[in-house]
Amino acid sequence: MNDNEADSETQAVRDYEVVVVGGGPAGLQAALYTTRLGHDTAVVDRGGGRAAMMLDTHNVIGVPEETSGNEFLQTAQEQVQSYGGDVVRDFIVEAERTEDGRFRLHGNDAEFLADRVVLGVGFNDERPDPPVPRTGKGLHYCLHCDAYMFIDRPVYVMGTGEAAAHVAMIMLNFTDDVDVLLRGETPEWSAETDEQLRAHPIDIVEAEITGMRKSDDGWLEAYEFDDGSVREYRGGFPMYGSNYNTALPEQLGCELTDDGTVAVDESMETTVDGVYAVGDITAGHNQIPVAMGKGAQAGIDIHYGLREFPRDLEDIRANGPVDPAATPDISSQIRGAAEAFPEARAPPIESPEPELADDD
Ligand SMILES: Cc1cc2nc3c(=O)[nH]c(=O)nc-3n(C[C@H](O)[C@H](O)[C@H](O)COP(=O)(O)OP(=O)(O)OC[C@H]3O[C@@H](n4cnc5c(N)ncnc54)[C@H](O)[C@@H]3O)c2cc1C
Repeated sequence: MNDNEADSETQAVRDYEVVVVGGGPAGLQAALYTTRLGHDTAVVDRGGGRAAMMLDTHNVIGVPEETSGNEFLQTAQEQVQSYGGDVVRDFIVEAERTEDGRFRLHGNDAEFLADRVVLGVGFNDERPDPPVPRTGKGLHYCLHCDAYMFIDRPVYVMGTGEAAAHVAMIMLNFTDDVDVLLRGETPEWSAETDEQLRAHPIDIVEAEITGMRKSDDGWLEAYEFDDGSVREYRGGFPMYGSNYNTALPEQLGCELTDDGTVAVDESMETTVDGVYAVGDITAGHNQIPVAMGKGAQAGIDIHYGLREFPRDLEDIRANGPVDPAATPDISSQIRGAAEAFPEARAPPIESPEPELADDD
């Protein structure tokens, strides 16, 4: 907890320079930068985002593939905490700008004040109706992560929209056995897409799924359909869309793009000064390295805006030179963490005892 903590009548008020809402890869990466660059930072996370769903971690260089999402996030949280950042389990239900230009975030358990806000709140995948296998064992939400595991395996794509047709055709790069499962619904893709899809060696299965068969290890083996057929699959991709968590950005007045993501500039700042958005809530590839890159970009940009030095010439001319006592500009929380973590800093200079001359 911060040294500037205060208690209101109803809730604890926690005051920070930076509050990151959402503790996925994007938010935690932003927080690691702002913390290590000397700004009091809290990550407020309710848990259970997309990264938490990963059984393995693919495409992240330096991270072993067998690392689960929860292991990945746990390590990231510990990194942020070891440098003096706070990681708080809470759900932010409301966000507003204060009269003095700061931000107030209302959680279920606490209230947060911040000079800068980072929204790394992500989205939720629209899940298919059961029966479906466990996520990661035949039900997959990340094409760029999981297509590789279906090289030469039978695959399904569920859905009726453009995305389902498109992903089915993409999967032919990995396997010659791809079906689209309509599950009793009517296709909604365009006539052009229909012509294109039907020119690829893909079966379009209209029947609804009534049951499934799994191997002993829990992996999907086959779906049973209401027309009595049974088709073998090792896995596949439901394509029913994404529900972006836009409540907070909308409350703060951030503009959204036509596809429902939060609009940002190249520094990941939204259309509202001081509010940043990172990761899957913004446009682009929904991948951990991409989310982390966006988090890093935001963290560094926030530091540029918040850091005390160099003071500009105008300020110096108006108020005089920098008082040496004002340096360094490190909060007591971050200094305390640095003192407790000597391995993270250069070793102190141990001055040798002054030697006495012989004739002294
Ligand atoms: C099953 C699955 C497997 C995947 N595998 C891979 C892979 O192997 N490699 C890869 O690169 N990518 C993979 N991805 C994609 C990757 O998980 C995402 O791109 C990445 O997690 C996005 O990070 P994020 O921080 O933007 O969002 P998230 O990871 O979704 O994190 C957002 C966090 O914000 C929290 N939150 C939301 N609203 C609030 C609120 N109001 N208050 C507090 N907290 C809030 C959520 O609870 C969540 O913890 C996979 C995705 C899925 C679904």
